[in-house]
Amino acid sequence: MMTGFSNQRGKGATAYLDYNATAPVLPAVIDAMVEAMREGGNPSSVHGPGRAAHRRLEDARAAIASRVGCRPAEVIFTSGGTEANNLALSGLPARRLLWAATEHDSIRAIAEAWPNDAVMIPVDHRGLLRTDVLEAELKAGEGAIVAVMLANNETGVIQDIPEIARLVHAHGGHLHVDAVQAFGKISVHFGALQAHSMSLSAHKIGGPQGVGALILRDDITIAARNRGGGQELGRRAGTENLPGIVGFARAAELLDLDAAAAVAALRDGLEARILQDVPQAVIFGRDAPRLPNTICVAVPGAASETQVMALDLAGVAVSAGSACSSGKVRQSHVLAAMGAGDLASAAIRVSLGRHTSAMDLDRFFSAWMAFHARRRKAVAS
Ligand code: PLP
Repeated sequence: MMTGFSNQRGKGATAYLDYNATAPVLPAVIDAMVEAMREGGNPSSVHGPGRAAHRRLEDARAAIASRVGCRPAEVIFTSGGTEANNLALSGLPARRLLWAATEHDSIRAIAEAWPNDAVMIPVDHRGLLRTDVLEAELKAGEGAIVAVMLANNETGVIQDIPEIARLVHAHGGHLHVDAVQAFGKISVHFGALQAHSMSLSAHKIGGPQGVGALILRDDITIAARNRGGGQELGRRAGTENLPGIVGFARAAELLDLDAAAAVAALRDGLEARILQDVPQAVIFGRDAPRLPNTICVAVPGAASETQVMALDLAGVAVSAGSACSSGKVRQSHVLAAMGAGDLASAAIRVSLGRHTSAMDLDRFFSAWMAFHARRRKAVAS
């Protein structure tokens, strides 16, 4: 049985196609969190209940570490992907920063206020980082921090991290990889990525919101942003969100990458229908390696917000570009960086997950086609 947005099938149910914004929390995760709350205890206390809580914390750390191929001591629990990205960049000794144009706002905001030299590295029309520009910038100043996401939240485009890592290592830099969207959708292995640090978030994989992790190589020290107690080996003060962390670990244990093939088949089927019936539709990042679950599609002249609202009225949840905390939709910097021009304001993101059914996609497709038919009629009259 499924909990969350798309649990009730049939009339009145929502076809939830916004997994990149957040995934429904898995029932086993809720159970694990409730149990952790019942058991209580502060992991820093020395008495029995504290030691039991500490064991649960360390078990969760080991579970995350084994999932992403790092050592438990390299896992720093945070309040989510945003904090992990912030901590990685601003906790390192300030030096030159090179960041990809399609990064999430939690990287962009830090980069834009960077005290030293910060250079935005462009992407090509497919959304792939211009590694020639990166290499030139690395040569211009050795030892830079380089921030590149593994997979993009809006388009699903997957960067060539092994090649980027090779360049960063050759120039003595620090590679930070935001793997928030990739985790759970494709294989994510810290060692194989050759990154120095990496961000994760629980709520994209069926875990709770408000918890995540920074994976940081154990030979690298960072300055804590949260100051206070010595939790997380002094790298992030504050009593850990133990129920959230336990839920995060449970969700990580339950990841099923084999299901990704089924999701990819559903996604590819939907894309084929779109391109056949709406020949003017543009699917962003289609020529690049992409997450198996994401479609970012635009139809010239159809405003993103209007499409999202029309679909919502029809019981289909998608988003316009990235989900913003204010609920407001603004021009996508990702699509702008890919040279989308005016098409950027016509894009919607459809993102599937392990509980998406063919029926959900049928509902999307018929509501979307009905919207475009109404629009064509309105334009013609
Ligand atoms: N990085 C990427 C690529 C994301 O898509 C998101 C969330 O959408 C974040 C970071 C932020 O994660 P959180 O919501 O856990 O703060």
